[in-house]
Amino acid sequence: MSKCEICGANADKHHIIFRSEGGLNFPLNFKFLCDKHHRGKYGPHNDKLTDMKYKLELQDTLYLLLNKQYYTIAEISELLDINCRQLKKSLAPYKKYKEGYKKEDIILTLMGGVIYTEYDLDYLFQRSLGL
Ligand SMILES: [Zn+2]
Ligand SMILES: [Zn+2]
Repeated sequence: MSKCEICGANADKHHIIFRSEGGLNFPLNFKFLCDKHHRGKYGPHNDKLTDMKYKLELQDTLYLLLNKQYYTIAEISELLDINCRQLKKSLAPYKKYKEGYKKEDIILTLMGGVIYTEYDLDYLFQRSLGL
C-alpha cells in the first residue's frame, strides 16, 4: 500500500489534473494522499488553493523536464511513462510538425487544456482571506 506524501498514513492515488479535467495516467500526475489529505477540508478536492498549488507544481516540473522544442509521441511516452495510444488521442487536435509536437501543446494537453499562473494562486489566496 502506498503512503501519504504528507503524513505517511496509508494513501490513495490522486490525479493532480483530475480525470474529469482530462488528466492522463502518468506518474507525474499522481500524488499519493491519505483520506484526510485527499478528501479532507484542506485536500485538493475541497480546497481550491491546495488543488492549484499541486497543479502549478506539476506544470513547473513539466516545463523543466521538457527542454526541447518538439517531441515525438514515442519520446514523450518514454520520458513521462504515458501510454502511446492515450497520448496520441489527446494530442490529436494539435498540429504535428515534422519534428513532432510542440512542447507548449504537449504541456497544455497534459495540464487538461489549461495553463495556470502564479496569478491564479494569488487570486485564490486573497479570496481565501476574504480580500
Ligand atoms: Zn496524509
Ligand atoms: Zn483525488
